[in-house]
Amino acid sequence: MAKNKNIFDYVFFTEILQGMGVTLKHMFKKPVTYKYPYEATPIFERFRGVHYMKTDEDGNPKCVGCYLCERVCPSECIHIETDAGPNGERLIRKYEIELDRCIYCGFCEEACPVDAIHMGRSYDVVRPTREGYRVNMKFLVDKYKEYLKDKGE
Ligand code: SF4
Ligand code: SF4
Repeated sequence: MAKNKNIFDYVFFTEILQGMGVTLKHMFKKPVTYKYPYEATPIFERFRGVHYMKTDEDGNPKCVGCYLCERVCPSECIHIETDAGPNGERLIRKYEIELDRCIYCGFCEEACPVDAIHMGRSYDVVRPTREGYRVNMKFLVDKYKEYLKDKGE
C-alpha cells in the first residue's frame, strides 16, 4: 500500500512538472488565435467572401439578366427574375443570393459574361434569422461600394 502511494506521488509530481513545462513553453510563443471580432483575421489573396455586384458609370448594376450565374450555381442559391424591356433587353426584377447556402465556389463570378458579379473579401455577414441571409441587389451593390471604399477608390 505504502509502495503504491509513493509511486502515485512520484508520477503525480512529474506530471505536474511536465504540465507546467508545456504551459511555460507556450507562454512565450506567438498566439495562433485572434480576438475576433475585435481583431480582424488575416485574409489570403485568393479568399472568396461575400459577393458584390459591379455597377456602371450611372450607378446601375452591370447585370444583364442572362441567368448564367443562376444556372451554373451548384447550390442553386441564386434566384433571378427579369422582365422584358422596351428594346428587348432584360430588366432585373429580382436578383437574390442565399448566402447561407452558398459554398463560395466562385462559379458565378467565372460564368458572368459582363464581369458583374464578383466574390468579395468580407466574411462577417451575421444575421439573426435564416431569411436574413437572402440578400438582394441593393445589398450586393452596397457591397461593391464597400469594396471600392476599402480599395480607396
Ligand atoms: S459562389 Fe458558388 S455556390 Fe455561391 S452563389 Fe456563386 S456559384 Fe453559387
Ligand atoms: S451571369 Fe452576370 S450578367 Fe448574367 S445574370 Fe448573373 S450576374 Fe447577371
